[in-house]
Amino acid sequence: MAKEDYEVIIGLEVHCELSTKTKIFCSCSTEFGGEPNSHCCPVCMALPGSLPVLNEKVVEYAVKAGLATNCEITKVSKNDRKNYFYPDLPKAYQISQFDLPLCHDGKVNIELENGESKEIRIERIHIEEDSGKLNHDEFGRGSFVDLNRAGVPLIEVVSRPDMRSAEEAENYMRKLKSIFEYIEISDCKMQEGSLRADVNVSVRKKGAEKLGTRTEMKNMSSFRSIVRAIKYESERQIEVIENGGTISQETLRWDDVSRKNFSNER
Ligand SMILES: [Zn+2]
Repeated sequence: MAKEDYEVIIGLEVHCELSTKTKIFCSCSTEFGGEPNSHCCPVCMALPGSLPVLNEKVVEYAVKAGLATNCEITKVSKNDRKNYFYPDLPKAYQISQFDLPLCHDGKVNIELENGESKEIRIERIHIEEDSGKLNHDEFGRGSFVDLNRAGVPLIEVVSRPDMRSAEEAENYMRKLKSIFEYIEISDCKMQEGSLRADVNVSVRKKGAEKLGTRTEMKNMSSFRSIVRAIKYESERQIEVIENGGTISQETLRWDDVSRKNFSNER
């Protein structure tokens, strides 16, 4: 079968840093940059005994994002702990939302090349805290933790797998960017990581009902690399299937220099 006999299925999880003055659970500044570890306190450093207090503005901005993307706004919401260990997350859990996100069941329209418009459904928008950053020393002396970003508020916008090409995914992300800039909830600076996406890609034979196994590429922060990565990954998957292989569900690391995906497990 040829490439044209396959359909590419794409879903995006877009992370957007909110431009509140202070962090989500403490009064530290959210300003980008600064001396490492100069915008932090016992709460965002997760010292024992410190207690988070939710920033009202974060809820306001997230609800604004929900209304601007035609979501239902939930009346009852809560935060949950997502446990994982990583050196830039001193609590060993991220405060996020699991079963009761602030906003759900939204949609935005994107314009296609042929002039038609297409609806992309949004499953949910939830609030969560950003992690810190690891700076890897170029002389190999180790990695340094900077917690200035720890606790910066984020919304995560989870789409349904409604996109069918790299161009549609780019259009959708550009649409979210313009909406969030217009309602002034984020500066959406991709080069500073304010807007980034986890991209899920799978392929299936045209006409098939069942979705194929998907792979995920995390933290993509430029339109160009998102488009390149989707094209590369969908072609790779088609080739694997055409050669009789199967796709394993995994997280891949896109390398924009070699323009290839690498598996973290292999
Ligand atoms: Zn703090």
